[in-house]
Amino acid sequence: MNLSVKNLTKKYGSKTALDQVSFSLDPGIYGLLGPNGAGKSTMINMIAGILRPTAGEILWDGEEIRELDRKYREILGFQPQQPGLYRDFRAKEFLRYMSAVKGLRQTRKEMDKNIDRVLDLVNLRKDAGSMIGAFSGGMKQRLSIAQALLNDPKLLLLDEPTAGLDPKERIRLRNTIATIALDKVVLWTTHIVSDIEYIAREILILKEGKLMRSSEPADLVQEMEGKVFLVPVRPEDVPAWEENALIGNVQKRERDVLLRVISDEYPGGENTEPALEDVYLYYFRERAEEGER
Ligand code: ADP
Ligand code: MG
Repeated sequence: MNLSVKNLTKKYGSKTALDQVSFSLDPGIYGLLGPNGAGKSTMINMIAGILRPTAGEILWDGEEIRELDRKYREILGFQPQQPGLYRDFRAKEFLRYMSAVKGLRQTRKEMDKNIDRVLDLVNLRKDAGSMIGAFSGGMKQRLSIAQALLNDPKLLLLDEPTAGLDPKERIRLRNTIATIALDKVVLWTTHIVSDIEYIAREILILKEGKLMRSSEPADLVQEMEGKVFLVPVRPEDVPAWEENALIGNVQKRERDVLLRVISDEYPGGENTEPALEDVYLYYFRERAEEGER
């Protein structure tokens, strides 16, 4: 079970949305992390086979996914960022329809049992008979994840699965995916560090179409060792700090403000333990870069 991508590139006209990205994924959960516009959906839509690459290869167990065709679709589960759900369907009807579209060879009884299974996974069993049009954003999102799980996929692609979920639903989804991911390759895109911080085996950092890093979370965090500081400043100095330094958290205290400063040089204050959030800020600092241009 291996997904390999080699020099994967996508151009929309003259715009390069994904630029020669290569990686190889064995079973486990992988977080594809990057801000809006980084190219996450472009990449995942190509891996899902619904968007044609401009160049490069996508291989499942060493074979081109286009050549695998139906065999690939049998092992693939895909939750797109913009799910095409049918408002006038009930949740269960929609999942029956998707079971048919996916060509699952099942008796009606097996199909319904399987649908109950995926509804349980996303905690929607009690809403099975409700109209999708009446669902909240979080419920629609969970239904979209449920349809991706119908064929018990070996490769599960989740494009911003936590969008629209409340904190409790986020945690639940994280735990659900962690438990079912044992024998799967899961690629999970997000711009929210906490989604994947504790469950991802590796984090792939995508910036402006380029793969900047792919490392274990602990290694990424360790590289920030000695770069994160807690600096007490006067409240009136906060705007100047925000202008000139890379600031994570801002904590207002009784007499002063404690800034979390990410810096290669000593900015004052005390060194503190880095976290993945700091890594994200470090890679996606906007202000410093605009200055360089
Ligand atoms: P992400 O999912 O990380 O937010 P996308 O893959 O959606 O990023 O987009 C990457 C870049 O490609 C963005 O600059 C976006 O505007 C551009 N883009 C995406 N889809 C199209 C398209 N169909 N036509 C032209 N440009 C596109
Ligand atoms: Mg996207």
